[in-house]
This record gives sequence, C-alpha cells and structure tokens, in this order.
Amino acid sequence: TGGRSMVRLHGVGHAYGGVVALRDVDLDVRQGVVLGIAGANGAGKSTLAGILHGSLAPTHGNRETAGALRTSLAPEGRALFKTLSLRENLEVAAYAAGITGAPLRARLEETMQWLPPRLRDRMSAPAGGLSGGEQQMLAIARALIVSPDILIVDEPALGLAPALVDEVYDRLSGLARDGLTVVLLEQLLSRALSVCHEVAVLHEGVVAVHGRPGDPAFEALAEAAYFNGG
Ligand code: ATP
Repeated sequence: TGGRSMVRLHGVGHAYGGVVALRDVDLDVRQGVVLGIAGANGAGKSTLAGILHGSLAPTHGNRETAGALRTSLAPEGRALFKTLSLRENLEVAAYAAGITGAPLRARLEETMQWLPPRLRDRMSAPAGGLSGGEQQMLAIARALIVSPDILIVDEPALGLAPALVDEVYDRLSGLARDGLTVVLLEQLLSRALSVCHEVAVLHEGVVAVHGRPGDPAFEALAEAAYFNGG
C-alpha cells in the first residue's frame, strides 16, 4: 500500500554518548500510509521519531527525503506552552514555520475544524487548563497547523483516560482517511495494530519485524518480537 516514498532511512543508528538507542534501521514511509512503530519503554521510539522528523541527526546511516518535505512532530509529553492560550500555541508554531497574516488565519480556521467543538469554543483559554487528552489534541493540532506532508505523533495515549485515548485515536483516524501520511509511535502493540496500515516492532533499538496488521501470522510474530525481540 501507499504511494511514493516520503522519508527513507538506510542503516540508521543513534547513540547518546555510549548509550545505543537505535541500530541499523531501514524504514520507508510512503505517502498516505499510517505507519505504526510499536515498542516497549526505552525501545527507541522517541529517538526514531526525532530522526524521521529531521530534528535529530542519526549517528549512523542516513535519512533521505522526497524533496522539500514538511514533517511535523507532536512530541511525547506534548510540550505545550501552558500559560499561553490554545490559539497562541497554534500561532507560535505557525510563526516558527514562517506562516503569518492571511495564510495564518486560514490555517488557524482549518486546524480548529479538526479540534473537537468543545475546544474550538475555548481558543482563548490557557492550554494548561485542558485535560490531558485535550492537551494531546492541541499538540496534534499544533503539528497540523503547518500543513505537514508527514505527521509524526509520539505516544499520544500516554497518561490519558481510556475514553480520551479513543477520542484522540478517532481524530487521528480521520486524518488518515483524508490521506495524510502519519507515523505513530505507540507503546501498546494492540493499539498500533488496530489503527495502522503497517506496523514495525522496535525492540531494543532494532526493527524486529515489519508487516501489515490483519494477517494473524504477522500479528503473532509482532507479539513475539515486541516481548522477546523476535
Ligand atoms: P519511552 O517509551 O520510555 O519514551 P522510547 O521507546 O521512546 O522510550 P527512547 O526515548 O528513544 O525510547 O530511548 C531509547 C534509549 O535511549 C533508552 O535506553 C534511553 O534511556 C536512551 N536515551 C534517550 N534519550 C537519551 C539522552 N538524551 N541521553 C542518554 N540516553 C538517552
């Protein structure tokens, strides 16, 4: 499935000083695909997210993109400006990408449509007053405001009540239906399998298996790899 290659990693590794977080990763993110990267705590998901995003340079191997891509990252922990309003959080991200004036107003309008109505009505309220799930949706909206070619979402379910996890994932699925290319870093393998077109299992910095959910043989392999490294 999927169209042309958007970002490709060849033999990518990353070490923080002596700590090897990622080794020899080959990955191809193709247009319109929702790619899940599932892995336990410390498997290397956030490191891989940073490298796919382009904000973290690999220490080994290389990253290739199809032309000038805009990649957006909704980082683990969300990193919102809690004392700024919802609107200001979106504006700051737009300014940083050089979007101002009429284009900014248009992007704000469109991005707000992605947010649940209860947040649309609270654009002037401080982000710190939102629930965890609402903050997560704002973090994703902030990533969307620049019209990314690829949206990377790092552990959106972290710390959220189950009902809100479902809401966040429903909204992510909506983006996928609209054809956006999404990379989802997810700690729970079952969740990655249920929402992604493709899943790679990361175990101790290595992609242990990569395949399509729905195939029971693949899902069994993915489970074994998730827990034991394959
Ligand atoms: P989590 O689910 O806990 O966020 P993760 O799968 O996102 O984990 P990473 O955050 O990429 O994994 O971390 C992979 C490995 O690299 C871990 O062993 C971690 O301790 C280590 N690591 C991550 N960031 C740093 C850093 N800045 N300095 C040193 N080691 C780091």
